[in-house]
Amino acid sequence: MARLNACELEIDLFCRGLRVPDDVPLADARGIRRTRAGLGSGLELVIPTQSWLKRRIWMNAPVVERFAQQSPYTLMGSQARGYAVRDERNAEQYAVELPLEPLWYRRETSRGVQMSRVGVLQGTYLGIYVNPVCAFWSYDPPLNCRFCTTGANVGCGESAIKSVEDVVETCHAAREESGVTFVHFNGGFQGSRGLRDVESYVRAVKERVGLLVGVQLTPEKDFTGYDRLIDLGVDHFSFCVELFDPAWFARICPGKERMLGQRLFFDAMDYCASRLPRGAVSGELIAGLEPIDNTMAAIDRITSAGAFPTVCIFRPTVGSDLEDWAPPEFADMRRVLEGVYEACRRHRIPIGVAPNIEVSLVVNPDDAALLARRTPAVLGYELWRRAARAAARPLFARRLRPRTARLGGGVTGSAG
Ligand code: SF4
Repeated sequence: MARLNACELEIDLFCRGLRVPDDVPLADARGIRRTRAGLGSGLELVIPTQSWLKRRIWMNAPVVERFAQQSPYTLMGSQARGYAVRDERNAEQYAVELPLEPLWYRRETSRGVQMSRVGVLQGTYLGIYVNPVCAFWSYDPPLNCRFCTTGANVGCGESAIKSVEDVVETCHAAREESGVTFVHFNGGFQGSRGLRDVESYVRAVKERVGLLVGVQLTPEKDFTGYDRLIDLGVDHFSFCVELFDPAWFARICPGKERMLGQRLFFDAMDYCASRLPRGAVSGELIAGLEPIDNTMAAIDRITSAGAFPTVCIFRPTVGSDLEDWAPPEFADMRRVLEGVYEACRRHRIPIGVAPNIEVSLVVNPDDAALLARRTPAVLGYELWRRAARAAARPLFARRLRPRTARLGGGVTGSAG
């Protein structure tokens, strides 16, 4: 078995998990946090790459799920000596880093709320679940997405309600002490008031902190809600369609199917993609549940709209309805992620242009550049991406300054 490159290792760790022996000290590393949908319930790792792309790959390695206990990968080392992941199948060792837990995690906001109960780092960005528990959890029987544990996390691992003040103070701390540039607000299904409810958070962060802001809620039929958020300065929207085959969508996401319908996800994504710069909108998919060819078709559908796919490798999260399901196979996931990069290249999506946004819960499309063969077309795309990054720097510098958002002012930009 050949040595894996950094992206292949990331994929294999998502598929097989990581064992952490009791005698390996995790002392100052970021603790395991069950917040939001529960996908960040693993150990945050950084895999440095030696490749021509010079990336540092951030990932959240599954460690508590049952499949992870059988993983061939073991963590070894310490913060002082350095950590490595050892593959028991061929004795290969891969250097990794365990990012430190930021000091602000343990501090309280002026209202006395521990900041890590407001938001957490997931890679290099700040993730905050801003709304009350997703309403799919309150139906009888529940209509929650079968892979999700939001209903068990919001109000337990994190505060049930986040005030605007708590969010602003946490964003400030994350920006000043962890160099965060991007905050991602999500909030599940809130009927037709989700977009309206998130406005006050967006306005406050844009005016008082100065961060790039992403919003991820179930889609709403009245698209003027997106217009208002774009006018307030939202940089990024993501739409979690998850599965492409309608039967799989209905089976895994019964609430989304019954209350919204799959088509609305694509319509809202298309609408936002038409209003924001290329690469500012994403379509989220879970790979490893439905047949791979469906996932590949979804990737093509999303990139055709000028959006980028964020692919989450299915994790049978503890406490979810699918906790006993098997994780996917490495070879299948490698194919999917190679397809993500290839589709972004074909459709000229400017991935990785925004500064310092590394998402640990998914394989970032630009991580997947490591899977591509170094053809002239790939090298051309990489040069184009580098030029796009340089050209976008002044724009993002402006958007990272606190400013007064103007309703109707038409402030747009890309967080791709
Ligand atoms: S919409 Fe689905 S994935 Fe999102 S919070 Fe609700 S149940 Fe979870």
